[in-house]
Amino acid sequence: MNADIEKLKIIISGSDNIVFFGGAGVSTESGIPDFRSADGLYSETQPQSDRPEFAYPPETILSHSFFMSYTEEFYRFYREKMLYPDAKPNDAHKALAELEKRGKLKAVITQNVDGLHTEAGSTNVLELHGSALRNICMSCKECYPIEKIINADGIPLCLCGGIIKPDVVLYKETLDPSVMAKATRAIYNADTLIVGGTSLNVYPAAGMINHYRGDKLILINKSETPYDRYADLIIRESIGLTLSEALKQ
Ligand code: ZN
Repeated sequence: MNADIEKLKIIISGSDNIVFFGGAGVSTESGIPDFRSADGLYSETQPQSDRPEFAYPPETILSHSFFMSYTEEFYRFYREKMLYPDAKPNDAHKALAELEKRGKLKAVITQNVDGLHTEAGSTNVLELHGSALRNICMSCKECYPIEKIINADGIPLCLCGGIIKPDVVLYKETLDPSVMAKATRAIYNADTLIVGGTSLNVYPAAGMINHYRGDKLILINKSETPYDRYADLIIRESIGLTLSEALKQ
């Protein structure tokens, strides 16, 4: 085992209030691309051919105003690029669920909308950007599962005739203040904070880790982050591999 993972193992064994803060990198090992990373969706949709598949970059399409004005085009992109109904939890999701079961981990805070932490068995999951598994009628607030979105032809409609909107935070929308408050409190109270699979460039979510007061900040990320200089341990490895190795007895 490498020395850093050995250090992580020691930190975990001495902790009983671990909080994990994760980004897209947690789910890339489940086959869900990170559209902000160099090899993710964004570069995929750069004009490489004469006829790009979508006329706008993901940040434009996944914005509140685009959803409201071009709902059908939003859904064409969303169904094709954002939904991965066959994705399964990977070793990172499973290790975090196991840490919670052992009474060591108190919360998973995620920027992902795929629901994989819950599927892996974690119970206290704070989804900063919402969940693609929940879809709500804009008129009557009826809630629909992801299948309703996948199977709809064009714009998914409620029985009442209203447009169904995914319960995910789009660009130019605000994060749910109650989820933010819970996440901030969890970080504030944590004895160990493990941050994984995020470049920590997206605010306000990234700024939340400033609330951590402890001295065991662990970053598991393939590339550098603006918080590297504050970290007590930096691991540039797969999150799934790192966490599952660190949990071995
Ligand atoms: Zn409705």
